[in-house]
Amino acid sequence: MMMFQTLARVMTSTADTLKIECAACQRRAEWPRTQAFEQLGSDACPPEARHRLRCAACGARRPRIWI
Ligand SMILES: [Zn+2]
Repeated sequence: MMMFQTLARVMTSTADTLKIECAACQRRAEWPRTQAFEQLGSDACPPEARHRLRCAACGARRPRIWI
């Protein structure tokens, strides 16, 4: 059985941050776990989370994200 990855599963420690980098303007943001869960939902899967995000500076969609 394949494990369904969710933000809650990949961000297991309270020290984890979600790193977001815009491919267009290279703006970087780091969200602490609590903020990522608030904005995206702890049950969101990473590709879905990526789909929902936009760069706060230039508005480009689908920034690169990693934990
Ligand atoms: Zn940008």
